[in-house]
Amino acid sequence: MRRVEATDALPVQLVGDQPTSENRTGDWRSQRPVIDAARCTGCLICWKYCPEACVTRTDKVPVILMDYCKGCAICAAECPRDCVAMQPEEAA
Ligand code: SF4
Ligand code: SF4
Repeated sequence: MRRVEATDALPVQLVGDQPTSENRTGDWRSQRPVIDAARCTGCLICWKYCPEACVTRTDKVPVILMDYCKGCAICAAECPRDCVAMQPEEAA
């Protein structure tokens, strides 16, 4: 990690030295999103909101790249069809 010093405008931040492709945030996850494919409309709201950019676009039901999904549940909160369920990692 590289430390970026605070300025009057910005707080101190820690910035990863590795490219995003090597930052496997899936290691943090205690719960995982599971999409109910029968109810998903393919609207891609989850793709738009995912902070890890790990929701990938398809013709219909998006695919979540679990190596990079940190289980934050934003996709579940934002899905207008309420068809993303967060399941405990050990149950998945
Ligand atoms: S937000 Fe919900 S309905 Fe829309 S693509 Fe994602 S899972 Fe499907
Ligand atoms: S749980 Fe968070 S990181 Fe994982 S796909 Fe949903 S929004 Fe992205």
